[in-house]
Order: sequence, then C-alpha cells, then structure tokens
Amino acid sequence: MKRFDLNLDLTNVIVILGAGVLLPVLLSTAAGIVAISLAEDTAGIVTGILVICFTVTAAGCGMLALVFAGRKARLARQQADFIANISHELRTPLSAITLYAQTLQSGKLKDDHEKTAECITTILREASWLDAIIDRVLTWRASSKDMLDLNMKSEPVAGAVQGAVERFRSMVPPDEITLSSSIHSELKVKHDAKAINSVVLNLLINAYKYTDGHREIEANVSDSSGCVTIEVKDNGIGLTALQAKSIFLPFHRAENPERGGTTGVGLGLSIARHLVNRHQGTISVDSRHSGGSSFKIVLPAAGDDS
Ligand code: ADP
Repeated sequence: MKRFDLNLDLTNVIVILGAGVLLPVLLSTAAGIVAISLAEDTAGIVTGILVICFTVTAAGCGMLALVFAGRKARLARQQADFIANISHELRTPLSAITLYAQTLQSGKLKDDHEKTAECITTILREASWLDAIIDRVLTWRASSKDMLDLNMKSEPVAGAVQGAVERFRSMVPPDEITLSSSIHSELKVKHDAKAINSVVLNLLINAYKYTDGHREIEANVSDSSGCVTIEVKDNGIGLTALQAKSIFLPFHRAENPERGGTTGVGLGLSIARHLVNRHQGTISVDSRHSGGSSFKIVLPAAGDDS
C-alpha cells in the first residue's frame, strides 16, 4: 500500500491548484474582459466585476509564486544544513577511528596488549556509530521515496528490542552508562524486526547523546490488554513542552543550550514515527526540561488469525 508520511508533497498540491484552478480562471476572465469591452451596453458593470475577478486571481497567482519561491529557498537551506550536519556527524567517529588506527600503526602499543585491545574495541565501537548514521540516512531516503519494504512477521517484539539493547551496549563505553532493561513481553505483534530494532536503537542513541554526565538509561517492554509498550527512558537534558511538540518533524532539532556540540541531522525521530505508524502504532514523548525523557512506542498486538 502506498503511503506518504515523511514527504507530503506540497509542491504537487500547489501545481495542481495553480494549473487546474488559477490559470483557467485567469485566462477566461481575461477573455471575458476583452469580449465584453467590444460589446457596448452592459460593458461598464460587467467589466468592473471582471476586473475585480482578474485582480483577485492575479494576486492569487502572485501569492502562489511567493509560496513557491519561499519553499524553494527553505528546501535549499535545509539541503545545505543537512550536508553540513551529516558531514559533521560522520566526521566525529571517523576522526576517532583514524586516531586509534594511527596509534596502532605507530607500533607504540605493540608490547601493551591491554591498550591494543582497548584501541581495537574503540575502533569497532566508532565504526558501529558510523554504520548507525548511514543506516538512518538510507532508511530516511527509502521511506521518503516510499520504497521501504517491511518484512512483517507475527511474533513478540522482545527479540528486536533485546537486539537493539545489545548493539547499543557495544557502542558506548561501559563506564559512561548504567543501562538496565526489563523486557517481559509475550504478546505477538505483527512487525518487521529490523525496523523495530532500528527505532529502539535510535531512541537509545538519543538517550545517550542528550544526557550529560553519567547516563542512566532504561529500555522496558511490557504487555497490556491488546498492545505492547516499548519505553526508552533517560535522565538527560529533557525537553520543554513546546520543543517536545516538534521533535518528530523531519530535520527538526530542539534548540537547547545543554545540547552543546551534539551532532545530528534531525531525522531519527521522524523515521521512528514513520516506521511506528507503518506498524499501526504510536510514538510519544514525556519529558521535562532538565528532567529526563521517556519515549513510548505502543504497538497493537496481532489478532489470533495472524
Ligand atoms: P538528531 O538526534 O539527529 O538531531 P532526532 O530526530 O533523533 O535527530 O531527534 C530530534 C531532536 O529531538 C534532537 O535534535 C533533540 O533536540 C531532541 N531529542 C531527541 N531525543 C532526545 C532525548 N532523549 N532527550 C532530549 N532531547 C531529545
């Protein structure tokens, strides 16, 4: 089934409106003015009405042109921001990989097996961050072009969530987080395990990125009547009520001084919402400024027949 969630194409709406409504009205009004001006008697009144009609329609066209130009400028700005942000986001793990690889190459650690192992672990950890960033961009591209095929199976989501927790654990230095999970779910949910895994991983990555100091992160899954709830909770910088309203929009990042130099492009949560919607579920956030955040995904349990 075709779905447009991330990329509601306003341009198409404007083109249809312009070509199908405004242009014909404009042309027929112009033709009317000319025709009636040639006949003499009622010409005054009708010409007046038609001139008003013509002026209003011309103003409509002008506004349409302005909307077009504004949208084009916004898209160009978004594109430039995206390229700058993604480059910055990719460069962070890449720099760490280069640094640790150079250290290994220099041979300085050749007799220190413990430090050598630490270097290799860090390189693998940073490569995992790179992989997650690239995966996010590719998923966004596929979903915005409506080319994301989901492999839906009816089974408990516990496996997908557990997989995300384990992957996340391997991506962060253990001394920087206390990661706990309570995954008790037996209800079957019709879902694509890879998609749910990537949504939960993204929430865990955000919980890490948007928390200063020692992070306390929880991943919980529980069953309730007819649905399964996945929760990712942190003790981080949180969000104001106003910020929380916009974070699921594509390319949106909350302006938060506590965020510091945290890298990102503002796509993770919009992809998460898109994927959760494709599962007929909902995603929401409960957060307070400086008081941590709790992201909740609610998915409907599969019926007996599936
Ligand atoms: P990115 O992290 O790449 O900016 P996301 O779409 O994942 O993009 O998140 C959008 C924005 O939502 C972030 O820029 C951040 O401002 C806010 N945000 C997301 N998760 C959290 C969180 N756990 N705590 C505080 N703010 C968050």
